[in-house]
Amino acid sequence: MTEHDGRIERVREILRGTPLIDGHNDLPEALRRRVDLRISEVDLRQSIPDLMTDIPRLRAGGVGGQFWSVWVPASLPEGEATRRAFEQLDIVRRIVAAYPEAFELAGTADDIERIFAAGRIASLMGLEGGSMIGSSLAVLRQFYALGIRYMTLTHWLTTRWADAATDAARHDGLTPFGVEVVHEMNRLGMLVDLSHVSPATMSAALDATEAPVLFSHSGARSVTDHPRNVPDEILARVRANGGVVMAVFLSIFVSRAVADYDQATDDVVDAARAARPEATEAELEEIGRSWQREHPGPVATLAQVADHIDRLRDIAGIEHVGIGSDFDGGARLPEGLGDVSQFPDLLAELLRRGYSDDDVRRIAGGNLLRLLRDAESVARRLQAERGPSERTIEELDGA
Ligand SMILES: [Zn+2]
Repeated sequence: MTEHDGRIERVREILRGTPLIDGHNDLPEALRRRVDLRISEVDLRQSIPDLMTDIPRLRAGGVGGQFWSVWVPASLPEGEATRRAFEQLDIVRRIVAAYPEAFELAGTADDIERIFAAGRIASLMGLEGGSMIGSSLAVLRQFYALGIRYMTLTHWLTTRWADAATDAARHDGLTPFGVEVVHEMNRLGMLVDLSHVSPATMSAALDATEAPVLFSHSGARSVTDHPRNVPDEILARVRANGGVVMAVFLSIFVSRAVADYDQATDDVVDAARAARPEATEAELEEIGRSWQREHPGPVATLAQVADHIDRLRDIAGIEHVGIGSDFDGGARLPEGLGDVSQFPDLLAELLRRGYSDDDVRRIAGGNLLRLLRDAESVARRLQAERGPSERTIEELDGA
């Protein structure tokens, strides 16, 4: 047995006792792109070409818990975003119901442990983008009732009440209604997810929250300078807050060279669009692909993902790190981490770097279970103190 095989064996032993819980997988949207709402046409018991996720590979990867992403384009108007979000949520619930031998919906840390012990994959849902609640706390509560257990306050664009990392700041972080959203999430026991938001929003949410926060899929900004990653000063606050940062795998977030290369490709496509306004999106995509064939680019690696985990551990602390792959999110993955079957290779790399079995147990899922239990206990306390918020965005923001 090679040393790598030995470490993989150790990882498998660890994952027999602790569920590996991944913070972010976009299979629901990847399926929708392929078959729209007709997901019964897809059989997840078989390997699906071009997708990174199916049941055999989830099993091979030792996955014990999965946050399935409920995502809609950030550019949709609020009402349309909410309708489409309910459709995405329905897709997740239908997938879970269609494979009862593989999946079961989980709403609590106890659920995850029970479902994992029964040999199934605990399925949780995260809402990726605050625009989907239509600036309504009533809608937020109904998403919780249907199983949503974290909400990313923004996606790519700034919302009416929170600034995104990749868009113009309009609110200096959170508006008063945004603060109320955080308070209501705390009361419900829905995790406040700060991936995708601006540093000012991260700070404002950390000021407002009574529960520990989550970053469902982000890296360390001091390793790769990308706005989607978390600055060191925020990581230090996550340690004090008791939160968890789940390390993202996507190449553009773990390698600056890959991000620059993708930007160069986008520039070529934008120039082509400006020169030929009549070109279709498909033609423009082909122009980008052909430029890339002529100019082969850098490739990110599994080791670079581990570098991010090292940094998250050094600044936020070993009790505040998890994994949030973003598989099937429509972007490239590093060499060695191409699909859900390869989680054990990453954990084996951590063992090679000197992480203890206990450290790996925490990163794989132990920290996330602890975070959920902390948030559940804060919710119980707050529910004893106050009822559902009846405030509105009009009242709080004068909007
Ligand atoms: Zn994302």
